[in-house]
Amino acid sequence: MLPIRWSLLSEYFSLLLLIIICTHYFGYEWNTAFTGRRKLFLCCLVSAMGSIILNIITVFTISIPGCIPLWLAVFFNSSYFLFTLITCSLFAWFFFSLTLEHVYDKHCMSRAKAALGGISVLSVLIVFINLFTGLLFYFDDAQVYQRGPLNRLVYAFPLAEMVLLFLCYRKNRSSVSDSMVFVMRFLPPIILLLCVAQILFPDFLLNGALSSIVSLILYISFLTHSNDRDNLTGIRNRDNFMTEMGLRIAGHQQTHIILVSLMSFADVNLRYGHDFGNAVLYELARYLDRLYPDGRAFRTSNMNFVLTLPWVSQEQADMQLETVRKRMEQPWVLGDKSCCLSFCMVDMHCEAAESDTVGSLVERLEFALVQAKETHSVVRYNQELGRKLWQQKDLIEIMQRSIKEHRFSVWYQPIYCCHRDIFCSAEALLRLNDYNGVPISPEVFIPLAEGSGLIDDLTWLVMEDACKLLSSGQVPELESISINLSLQQFLDPNLPACFQKYLTAYQVDPSRIKVEITERFLLHNAAHAQQQFAALSAIGIELYMDDFGTGYSNLSSVLDYPFNFIKVDRSLVQHAPEDQRANLMLSTLASLFHSLDKRLIMEGVETQAQAEYMKRCGADMIQGFYYARPMPEKQLIRFFSEQNPK
Ligand code: C2E
Ligand code: CA
Ligand code: CA
Repeated sequence: MLPIRWSLLSEYFSLLLLIIICTHYFGYEWNTAFTGRRKLFLCCLVSAMGSIILNIITVFTISIPGCIPLWLAVFFNSSYFLFTLITCSLFAWFFFSLTLEHVYDKHCMSRAKAALGGISVLSVLIVFINLFTGLLFYFDDAQVYQRGPLNRLVYAFPLAEMVLLFLCYRKNRSSVSDSMVFVMRFLPPIILLLCVAQILFPDFLLNGALSSIVSLILYISFLTHSNDRDNLTGIRNRDNFMTEMGLRIAGHQQTHIILVSLMSFADVNLRYGHDFGNAVLYELARYLDRLYPDGRAFRTSNMNFVLTLPWVSQEQADMQLETVRKRMEQPWVLGDKSCCLSFCMVDMHCEAAESDTVGSLVERLEFALVQAKETHSVVRYNQELGRKLWQQKDLIEIMQRSIKEHRFSVWYQPIYCCHRDIFCSAEALLRLNDYNGVPISPEVFIPLAEGSGLIDDLTWLVMEDACKLLSSGQVPELESISINLSLQQFLDPNLPACFQKYLTAYQVDPSRIKVEITERFLLHNAAHAQQQFAALSAIGIELYMDDFGTGYSNLSSVLDYPFNFIKVDRSLVQHAPEDQRANLMLSTLASLFHSLDKRLIMEGVETQAQAEYMKRCGADMIQGFYYARPMPEKQLIRFFSEQNPK
């Protein structure tokens, strides 16, 4: 028989393509973490190149019969068959791992591995049997290479792997990533086409073309996607978390989520330097990523790390949580430095119910995180927390509707001026009833309005109401109204201009509007706060420090800012005059503030004894239920005309 004339053109081209992919891959991926997936892809690339090189060598040796000893020719040919079939299995393994990437069921991957292992063993066996039977290939008497009767059987292996992969893909379709869906759309027709072409034109070698095209598709669709990794730690980032959870929910896979949030990390940076801070974050990320083989770590924001695990049982979840918590309490030792991290944690069982979405999951996580941050503790998202979240959302909706429907009202609490024995001022306080007419406490809705961006509307609603009342002339004795400002407003650069707008529109003298600010706002925004103070003072608006004595205050910040009035909180007032220590504190504070040329308003005065004591202490003004509760505008007008001497 005549020797076969092979065409290697496509193999050269494929080798070149693989070399380009490999070089680019190394250059591109060098700085990112070498994960299992990346290692496996590298194995596939190297194996594909090895198979093509072996193919080229074998074709050379068999095109010139007798140029090398027969045993060497058999060795090269057998190795080529073996290498090619193993390369197919490696690619198939890679495809299975991508298909099952977001499927927690470990049995799927083990079954896939067993099937691939079986096919690989079978291919080794068939190559071995060929040595004695010539079923795949043989050398005739003239040492010319000839195809055996089952030569085409080798295509059955990659085709079988392809069919298995396709079945696996169909079964887990809802948990398969978009990139893999893209691959699965192109891969089967291309493989089929190349296999058919190879069978029709057996002398035009296409094996390399197959592996290089597959590698190219993979490279384009997956491996250039470095955007899903966090630059600093190399673990998955927030986008990846969202994609992953979306797929898990779609696939109804229950997940155990542990969120670790670092608190006051700026202190670590300040104390040990940024490099050390970064190294600690890196260590923490690595620790979480490597803690459990089936766990996955994500950096969802600068200071938030999430570990996801397949949900097995409550006991297991408790154990996992405890392991992470205990580690977090240990110091992080790096070189000769070590530090302990301040943190809080959220523990959640994502049941992947029909109604779940990634959005709702993130919302629940963030809600639990707020609670965890408040208590510096580990918070488990449970039914009770779920109810709270639901109530909160409901309340935000009520507020949104109430703003549109003008259902908010502004009440005023009169403030008594001690020196002149008259009521001269009032504090504007927001009021809201739910749709059943039940009042909702501002202590409940104000923080929510602050968190949901509604506070701006509410503040200007109060300001407008106050300006209207002052300019109406209905309460001539009402010299000023104080309104409460939230942090967001206080930091808003447009704040002075907004005040000016209302003052001008209602022709109210700026000295008649007082702004109350809680001192805790000032702690973290010192420079900006000073600017805002200066801007408001320039308009002529005076500032009150609200809630002095609630635990945030320290004297130095009172002195740092040009407050005209200090409002002493009810918590300091309520024990007077029975408690001697409270009395001593109040009288000392009064003389201190007076000596600093600041005036004092005592808040929450409920009894006559308290009121008299405050006057003796030197209070400039008194606000409290003893004199009057907050009341609607009409009642206030009556109150002022009745209480103040004509
Ligand atoms: P705040 O600024 O400290 O307002 C004083 C609160 O103390 C008011 O509660 C008032 O009703 C209550 N109060 C006054 N005198 C007494 C007393 O003798 N005894 C007792 N037990 N309480 C007294 P309210 O109206 O429930 O407001 C609670 C908080 O909600 C306010 O505390 C303020 O922080 C916030 N808030 C109310 N309205 C607004 C607003 O328009 N804007 C902003 N940003 N916050 C507001
Ligand atoms: Ca206030
Ligand atoms: Ca207050």
